[in-house]
Amino acid sequence: DLPVVVIAGRPNVGKSTLFNRLVGRRQAIVSDTPGVTRDRKEGEALLRGKRVRLIDTAGLEEAAPDTLFGRMRASSESAVSIADLVLFCIDARAGVTPADAHFAAWLRKQNKPVLLVANKAEGAVATAEALEAYSLGLGSPLALSAEHGEGIAHLMGEIADRL
Ligand code: GDP
Ligand code: MG
Repeated sequence: DLPVVVIAGRPNVGKSTLFNRLVGRRQAIVSDTPGVTRDRKEGEALLRGKRVRLIDTAGLEEAAPDTLFGRMRASSESAVSIADLVLFCIDARAGVTPADAHFAAWLRKQNKPVLLVANKAEGAVATAEALEAYSLGLGSPLALSAEHGEGIAHLMGEIADRL
């Protein structure tokens, strides 16, 4: 079986954009509506010669508890439970939000290897905000831009090193 890499985080941080970048095809549907992920949520990616099964989690799903955190957690729980590695994404432009902090606290208790991704950091504009992500207690943030393709090759190497 291929190692499972799960992309998690609150809505609108760019999870589906990162998924598409790593898979190299438009398999997930990116929407301007925060957290909307439709159709394909799984794909295979080749990361530095290593094949992985990549899962894009939706930030908002039907039939879930009615708080944002509850919905995030419900939609991510089953995916995280089968993960060999979790990519926990934040939006470096927005900085660390209360939802990020809640999610990170829950994730720390799952005892899964986590790579912290500070997305939307194109042009190093958001480096200071990315550094704020150290406060989440999930290690060093990897600043990158899924949309612009910056830092993706480095991320691929970091993922492959951990599997
Ligand atoms: P998700 O809800 O976490 O899956 O986020 P999406 O992938 O749907 O992206 C949410 C919004 O953020 C979209 O408008 C994307 O175009 C935008 N976005 C994603 N990655 C980046 C990035 O690297 N930089 C910037 N500036 N915007 C991004
Ligand atoms: Mg999405």
